[in-house]
Amino acid sequence: DPRLQAISEAISVIPHFPKPGIMFQDITTLLLNHKAFKDTVDIFVERYRDMGISVVAGIEARGFMFGPSVALAIGAKFVPLRKPGKLPAKVVSQAYELEYGTDCLEMHIDAIQHGERAVVIDDLVATGGTLSAAMKLLECRGAEVVECACVIGLPDVKRQPRLNGKPLYILVEPR
Ligand code: 5GP
Repeated sequence: DPRLQAISEAISVIPHFPKPGIMFQDITTLLLNHKAFKDTVDIFVERYRDMGISVVAGIEARGFMFGPSVALAIGAKFVPLRKPGKLPAKVVSQAYELEYGTDCLEMHIDAIQHGERAVVIDDLVATGGTLSAAMKLLECRGAEVVECACVIGLPDVKRQPRLNGKPLYILVEPR
């Protein structure tokens, strides 16, 4: 896809953020670039518009920057998957492993109905731990996760684009 190179070039790399040694992939500069931002959303919309998707789930915080636009364009609802303690109504929780320690995602229990078809969106996949937790949340409420979608995927994941048996759709590798 000829749009992918400009999308990749619109992402900036911030060395040693948030910790020494990490090359942070910063998508805020992609959001500043109208063409690259729109192309990113359009590519997801083109892929998901005819797949019978009724739920786009976005992972806090950067999944919120792409997910709602995709949901609106394909006629689906948007479901935020949030860090613990942020959602006000009844939630289901899923803990997951980080490099050091654990984290947790939550979803409103009444956000989806059994049998709905869902796509999960985030900005970047590294180990896949965050997306796996997101998939479990949706599946425990009876949704079918059709695919996970990320703007950026590490080369390892891009070569083996599956997660818990489901496809992973990645646009670009880290810069
Ligand atoms: P994983 O669970 O796949 O190991 O890590 C993915 C999560 O970490 C995503 O929610 C993503 O937003 C965040 N993340 C880790 N490293 C980076 C990075 O360099 N840039 C951005 N934008 N997000 C990152």
